[in-house]
Amino acid sequence: MIGPAGENLVKFAGIRMSDYERFAGRGGVGAVMGSKLLKGILVWGTRDLSKELVDKAKFMKVNSDIVKRIATHDTTKVLHKYGTNVLMNIVQSIGALPHYNFGGTGKIADVTPVSEEYIKDHYPTETHGCYNCPIACTQMPTVKSGPFKFSVTEKYVKQEYENTWALGPNVGSTDPEANLRFQKLANELGLDTISLGNTLSMAIELAKNGKLNLDIDWGDAGSLEYLIHKIAYRDGIGDELAEGDYRLAVKYGMPQLFVGSRGQGLPAYDPRALKGFALAYYTANRGGDHLEAYTPTWEIFGVPEKVDPFCETQECIEKQARIVKWNQDLFAVVDSTIFCKFENLMPNIDTEKDFADLYNAAFGWDLTPQDVLTTGERIFNVERLHWVREGKWVKDELPPRMREPIPDGPAKGHTASKMFDEGIKVYYKLRGWVDGKPTRDTLKRLGLEEFEYLL
Ligand code: SF4
Repeated sequence: MIGPAGENLVKFAGIRMSDYERFAGRGGVGAVMGSKLLKGILVWGTRDLSKELVDKAKFMKVNSDIVKRIATHDTTKVLHKYGTNVLMNIVQSIGALPHYNFGGTGKIADVTPVSEEYIKDHYPTETHGCYNCPIACTQMPTVKSGPFKFSVTEKYVKQEYENTWALGPNVGSTDPEANLRFQKLANELGLDTISLGNTLSMAIELAKNGKLNLDIDWGDAGSLEYLIHKIAYRDGIGDELAEGDYRLAVKYGMPQLFVGSRGQGLPAYDPRALKGFALAYYTANRGGDHLEAYTPTWEIFGVPEKVDPFCETQECIEKQARIVKWNQDLFAVVDSTIFCKFENLMPNIDTEKDFADLYNAAFGWDLTPQDVLTTGERIFNVERLHWVREGKWVKDELPPRMREPIPDGPAKGHTASKMFDEGIKVYYKLRGWVDGKPTRDTLKRLGLEEFEYLL
C-alpha cells in the first residue's frame, strides 16, 4: 500500500509490502498508484501451485540443495547477524562512502555510530526475515528514549545500509538515533529513503549556495525531520522538495550538483572508488540503480572473481564491462522471478544454472544456463527500448561531479571518467548497441524484431 507520500504524488513515493516494512522503493511507483487513487492491494489465493509442477521431486531436490548451500555459507551468518548495514564500515574503509551529496571527501566522518556493529550494541534489535528465507537478514532496532524515541505503536524500524547512508552521512549526520527515526518516518510516510536522502542533501547544498531560501546546515536533525513531514504532505517548501533532487537542481540552475542518471539519484557507493559502478549505475535502465548490476559483489566480496575496484587498465576496463553486462542480464531474470539477490553474493551459488534447473523441473522445459542469460538480455534490451520510445535518457552519461577527483581518503585522486569513457565503448560493443540503443542486428539476434519500428 502507499502512504501520504504516494497519495500526494511525491515523485519518489514507494509501495510498502507486508513483510516487515519492505518496499518497492525506487522510481516513484507509489505516486503512480496515488495518481490512480489506488491505496493498496490485498492478495490471497487458494490454488496449490506445487501440485502443478511437472517434476515435483526434482524441483524440491534442486530447491533444498540451493537452500542448503545458502544456509551453510559464511556470508549468510554475517547477513543474519548484521544485515546489509555491515557494509557501512567496509565501504568507508576503502574511501567509497559518499558524504554530503557526493561532494565530501573520501573519509571525512567517523561513521562508527551508524554502523550496524554499533547499532546492535546500543539499541534493542529484533532479527526477522522475508517469508521462508534461510538468511533472514532483516534488522529491526528501536530507540527507547530521548528526542527521537519511537512511539509504542511504531516499535521497530526495518533498517538497511542504503537507508542509513542516505539519511546519515549523505545529509552530514552520524547521529544513530536521528538516523533510525528518519528511516522510521520514511517508512511510515511511504518515501523512497535513497531519493529522500538525495533530495535533502540537494536542498542543503542549494541553500548553502544561496539558491534555496532555507535555513539549514548539514546534519541539522530538527530541520531534516521537519522537512521529511513537509515533503510527504507537499506542504509549503515540501511541495518543491517533493519533486526530487534532479528537478530541484535544474529548477535552481545548478544541474551540475545532481549525481545520478536518468533523473534518479545515486545509492550508497561512490563510483569513483568502486569503478564497476561507473558503468553499472550509468547504464542502468531505471537510472541511479545499484540493483541492475551490483559490482561490489566482485570488487569487495570477490564473487565470482576478485576485481580491483581502483584498477583502470584496459584489461580491467574490459573485465568490468563484461561482468556488468553479465550481471545485468542475470539480474533482469532474478527481478522477473522475484528471487532475492543476496543469494548471488554466495560463492557457491551458480544462479543461471540453478534457475535453469528450477524452471526445467517446474515446467518440463529444456533451458541451458546460457538460455537464462539470453532471456535476461532480451529483458534488458526491451527496457532500454522503453526510453527509445519515450525519446529521452537513451544515451548513457556520466554527471560532472563524478569527473572531479575524490579529494581525500583511501580513494584520493580517483574519478569515474576513464572507466566510463573507455568502458562504455567496450560495453556497447558487447551489447551490440550504438549510442545507447540496440541495432537492428541485435534485435534480430535476440528475436525482438517486433520492436524494430522504434529505431
Ligand atoms: S529474502 Fe533477501 S532481503 Fe529478505 S530476509 Fe532473505 S536475504 Fe534478506
